[in-house]
Amino acid sequence: MSTSSYDTPVLIAGGGPAGLAAALLLARHGVPPLLVERHAGTSIHPRARGLNVRTMEILRTVGLEGDVRDAGAALATSRYMLFVDTLAGEEIRRVPDADLLPVGEALARVTPCDWGRCAQDELEPVLATAARAHGADLRFGTDLVSFSQDADGVSATLADRATGAHRAVRAQYLVAADGAHSLVRESLGVPMAGLGPVSRGQLGHFVNVYFRANLSDLVRGREFILCFVERPGAEGLLLAVNNADRWLFNVEYDPDCGETPDAFTPARCVALIKAAIGLPDLDVEILSVLPWEGAALIADRFQAGRAFLVGDAAHVMPPAGGFGLNTGVQDAHNLAWKLALVLKGTADPALLDTYEAERRPVARVVVDRAVRELAAPTPDGAPAWDGPEQAGPEDGAWGDGDGDPLAQLPPILGYHYASRAVVVEDGVDQAGQVDQAGQVDQADARPEELDLTGRPGTRAPHVWIERASQRISMLDLFDRRFVLLAGAEGVAWCDAARPVAARLGIDLDSYRVGMAGDLIDRDENWGAAYGVTPTGAVVVRPDGTVGWRSAGGIGSPAEELGRVLPRLLCRMPLLARSA
Ligand SMILES: Cc1cc2nc3c(=O)[nH]c(=O)nc-3n(C[C@H](O)[C@H](O)[C@H](O)COP(=O)(O)OP(=O)(O)OC[C@H]3O[C@@H](n4cnc5c(N)ncnc54)[C@H](O)[C@@H]3O)c2cc1C
Repeated sequence: MSTSSYDTPVLIAGGGPAGLAAALLLARHGVPPLLVERHAGTSIHPRARGLNVRTMEILRTVGLEGDVRDAGAALATSRYMLFVDTLAGEEIRRVPDADLLPVGEALARVTPCDWGRCAQDELEPVLATAARAHGADLRFGTDLVSFSQDADGVSATLADRATGAHRAVRAQYLVAADGAHSLVRESLGVPMAGLGPVSRGQLGHFVNVYFRANLSDLVRGREFILCFVERPGAEGLLLAVNNADRWLFNVEYDPDCGETPDAFTPARCVALIKAAIGLPDLDVEILSVLPWEGAALIADRFQAGRAFLVGDAAHVMPPAGGFGLNTGVQDAHNLAWKLALVLKGTADPALLDTYEAERRPVARVVVDRAVRELAAPTPDGAPAWDGPEQAGPEDGAWGDGDGDPLAQLPPILGYHYASRAVVVEDGVDQAGQVDQAGQVDQADARPEELDLTGRPGTRAPHVWIERASQRISMLDLFDRRFVLLAGAEGVAWCDAARPVAARLGIDLDSYRVGMAGDLIDRDENWGAAYGVTPTGAVVVRPDGTVGWRSAGGIGSPAEELGRVLPRLLCRMPLLARSA
């Protein structure tokens, strides 16, 4: 079927952070998608406020790191976790960020980025504006009503919520970014499974109340990201949105006692907030009330034919640890380049199967981690959540890392993808079963340790280098194109890479790295960081994942690259094809 038979190459259902990130990333790959979002605009309720360093790296790559920091500037001063009787009353404990997250030198060794703070309602417009600027067609107030798929594409019915008018759309692929209650997932009949005994609702029922009140004088000098209020009758969690007049108050309720979200009327919310702040005369305006359930669930499959689940549609986790939004953006980043190269005809459609193989194991680890974070003892010794005992891991496993801030990094940066889009070294890999062609069949990406050593399947290491007299992070090179990095004596790799890439029709940049190469490595760090000698080379995929590595030089770089580059695209080796 010709591309003119389609209205859009990719239809994205849902304009939350995962859908908007997918739209932006696809559009930047030259595949402008059609995104439909049922709400009239981006989110009005701030939910996520923390962006982890991997998300910030992705935003840096797409040129939005500064915009997102500006959008979240009011939250940047939030540096504490507080424990109080009431906010205006006794302060029980104040825990600085640095005790919870790796910062400063420890962080700078592994990433050029810092943690980001930006409320979701401020982040989404930044993503939407950038997606539109790159050509994505974003339709708000539009519902995906139904869809079906066949061997050639996806047929969908959309409804304009203002007029009720229906419209049929034909797309080559469908990205389901339609959230935890995904219509696409349910229509596909893909079940969600809990992690161990944890299932929907077992991690508590909550309302998240977004309110306006001037609390700037109360928090000045102790700006918090989370504030646990312990006053009996007003227990809950205060969350900063702009450190001035916009805040969230998260309260648990118990359906077993007959409580429902409807019971949280504006008047009751105002009373609860005044009690939690400890100021009976405070002016409080309720902006919105969002009920939510704690859950830890993963879809059995992330792909069904031409449909792909990303974000909360694929995995639902408690907000503890702040992984939900971040994992969704990172899903989109993994999927976008694969869809783009398959749509351009340079990769085999089998490349799309690696999305599930790579991201589902990561989601499992992250969901598990979020559950542990929820139940981990807080720094004042009390559990942050005291849900059912059977919901979590064995005794002693809570809060793994023993309070070591560096323990936060493995689930964020330490993932190891093991799939057909990674060429394992020496045909052997601990993480998966290797088939006869030396490719990993079954992925088991377990980000339990921070493995940033240039091993294929891991996030390419960050090293500061100089390009054209400018200091950049190595990560700044990994944007939309394959990158071959060769050692100072690896000119043969660079010479061989260009014709192989041209024959494959892919965009590939090649660089020699050293004291005198295309990239100047003044600190002589890169070889050790990437595990290669001056005659070695690595190929990094467009998503910044190391795809292949040769520690040293070999007889025929052209033959080797003719073998490995097609494999990263799930294509047959070039030499075998021409033979
Ligand atoms: C109280 C709270 C605090 C949180 N804090 C954090 C945090 O600190 N850090 C973090 O990373 N995460 C956090 N999260 C989680 C985070 O908000 C979610 O993981 C994130 O919003 C998921 O993004 P998404 O795009 O996958 O889904 P959503 O944001 O749910 O977006 C899905 C979109 O799809 C639309 N949609 C659904 N069906 C259709 C349809 N048929 N047609 C058209 N549109 C449709 C919906 O309207 C919605 O806008 C928090 C969540 C809550 C509830």
